[in-house]
Amino acid sequence: MTKYFLLFALVMFVWWLWQKSASTRGTTRRPANKREPERMVQCAHCGVNQPVSESILADDRYYCCPAHLRDARSDRA
Ligand SMILES: [Zn+2]
Repeated sequence: MTKYFLLFALVMFVWWLWQKSASTRGTTRRPANKREPERMVQCAHCGVNQPVSESILADDRYYCCPAHLRDARSDRA
């Protein structure tokens, strides 16, 4: 009977160690929703700074809105 109790205790101990290591891995893991600092770009027409994801890239220039892209193109034409 003591043999089974020791076996059970060993299983519980291994399980506890496994849980502990699993929780440690969970805290060190990088949160998935963490946002990278975004690069700021300047509108080639009005000069306003804004995140690159909200800008329009055309002809190797960034624009803040479609209107400024259109205005810049009509200025050059
Ligand atoms: Zn602009």
